[in-house]
Order: sequence, then C-alpha cells, then structure tokens
Amino acid sequence: MVNLKDILDTDTILKEKYRIENLDNSIITLELVISQKCNLQCKHCYFGDKLPSKSPLSRDEWINIIENAIQNGIKHFHFSGKEPLLNNDLFSVLSYIAKQKNKYSLFYGIVSNGISVEKHIYEKLLSTNLDYIEFSVEGTKDINDFIRGNNHFEKLVTKLDSLLPNDKISTSTTLSEINKDYFLDLLDILIEKKMTKIFAAPLHFVGSAIQNSLNIISPIDLLNIIENSIKKITQLKSTNQEIDLKFCISDFYTEYLINNEHFMSEKLKLYLEYGKPIYWNINGHIVEIALQFVDIPFLRQLIITDDGYILSDADDINKRNYYELSLDNVKKCNFCEIMKLRKKYISNYFTNFLF
Ligand code: SF4
Repeated sequence: MVNLKDILDTDTILKEKYRIENLDNSIITLELVISQKCNLQCKHCYFGDKLPSKSPLSRDEWINIIENAIQNGIKHFHFSGKEPLLNNDLFSVLSYIAKQKNKYSLFYGIVSNGISVEKHIYEKLLSTNLDYIEFSVEGTKDINDFIRGNNHFEKLVTKLDSLLPNDKISTSTTLSEINKDYFLDLLDILIEKKMTKIFAAPLHFVGSAIQNSLNIISPIDLLNIIENSIKKITQLKSTNQEIDLKFCISDFYTEYLINNEHFMSEKLKLYLEYGKPIYWNINGHIVEIALQFVDIPFLRQLIITDDGYILSDADDINKRNYYELSLDNVKKCNFCEIMKLRKKYISNYFTNFLF
C-alpha cells in the first residue's frame, strides 16, 4: 500500500482527507453482480469455486436497490456476473434504468464473455440507450482459448465482426504472465476489426488464478507492454477510427512506478504533484493510464453481491467469509444507511491506515 506520509506533507494529507470525505456520490460505480451462472470456466475467473448463493436477490429487489441508489446520487451502474446475460431478469432491470437515464443522467453497461447469448440479443441491447458492452478477450486465439475455453476466440470474433464498428463496444484483457507476450498481437487484431475502446488490467491473484497457478505480470513486463503499445499506436495513421487504449493499474503496480525510474516518470511526477492525468495523445489516438494511487475501500466502487452484501472489491467475492467483509446487506438496510456506513468506514480507514 502506498504510504501517504512518504509522499505528502501533513497539511496536504488533511486537506485530502477532507476532500475525499466530502466527495459527491456521483463518483461511485455501483457494480451489480446479477448472475450466478456462467457458460465458461476461465482459468483466471475471480469467482473461483464459489458456490451459488442460497438466497439470490429477486428482480424486484434489484430494481429497488437501483431506485434507492439513484435517489442517493449514484449515476454509474455496472452489471457483471458471473455472466449477466444468463440472468433472465437482466433485460427487465436494464429497462428500468433505461427509463430513468435521461432524468438522472445515468451511465450504465454490462461486461460479457461475448458468447453467452445469440448475436441478436447483443444487437437488441445495443439498440437501447445502454452506454456500453465490455467483451472480455485474453489474447490471440490459442492463448485466449487456453484461458477461456475452446473456440471462444472464434465465436467472439464472429460476433464482433457483425457488431462493429460501434462506439458502445469495448474489450477488456486481464494481463498475466501467461498472456503478456500476446497482447500486442491482440491489439493488431482488435484495431483491424475497428474496435476503438480497448482496456487492459493486470491479473489479481485470486479465485481460479490460484487454483490454476496463473502468475501475475511483473511491473517491468507491464511497463514494457504499455511502452510497446504506445509505439504501436504511434505507427497508426490518423483516421476516423480513433483508438482509446486504457491500462487500469492497481496500487501494487503504482507503488513500483513511484519508486522506480521509467519512461513515464515525468508524467507520473505531474500526476502526483498536480493531479494531471497520465495519457498520450498520438494523432488523435489516446493511450491512458488509470492509476489506483491509494486504494480506499468503498470510495469509488460498491459491489452488490447476488445475495445482497456490499463489498468494496470484486476480489473478495470468492472468499468463504465474504459477508464479513461487507458494509452490510441491502436486504437489511436502505441506501441512505449504506452511504452513512460508507462515509464512516472511509473516515476510519483514512485515520487508521493512511495517516
Ligand atoms: S471470467 Fe467471466 S466468463 Fe470466465 S468463467 Fe468467470 S464469470 Fe465466466
């Protein structure tokens, strides 16, 4: 964990504490783990061997949570799973958000493995006012299929061929020791298919990754991938198809970046001193780095498990005692109470761990 005292003076930390405690709820992403089912068994799945919960939330309970969250200023709703499209209530829940979207300036989307339902279902989703569908892909065919299962790559690419170009579609890749050498080739394929939003983030060593002995990527390898991706994007011509390539980096890697010299040291310094975002604009193509600098639980993300517990990190879902890590359960308290618990937790966390 980054120690604030090593980087900032006391006055700055106190100001930061005040600022963080008073941030608007619109910074929160509410992740709804709406499905207990998946049609794949990926080697890096963070659900691991978690069993289905005994009392999953009903359609009405999900809608009630969303209604409550909207009243408390939450704008971003992210539907995950396991595979969200395998919950038959998903469309009904999404259509509730769709009706509220304009009035409350909401932003919502789903992550999907891309092969859980037929193409026309994805088309139907894309024709609504949903903001995004994020498809997961782990590399070129062989390595992707090794991680996600036979023929996943071909089936996904066939779908993408018929759905792209479309601004609402993005891909996400989990970078690990096993697929790190295939990311640049995947980038070529995605760009050729007119994918414009491409996300990547390092593997967290949890769930099935532990059972399958998948190793995390080293900070040096991650830096190499970012640097080589920038070089690749630099070679692209400026076209109407402007790429947005984003690397989301957890605090473990951020700590390495802060303590070592590398090609992005200058930009990192400006980020730490002035909060300037880290990105490269290359002929209209953007490569950006979303750093997790100080990971304060429950600050920007609340995860509602399929049985109603409120977690700060999806990595906790597979833990046997996940309910003990929860703020509370949405079946027992309303969103206003959840927000109070969150604020209290953040304040204590700041005092006990960061200050
Ligand atoms: S990683 Fe996603 S697609 Fe793969 S098994 Fe887990 S929930 Fe399913």
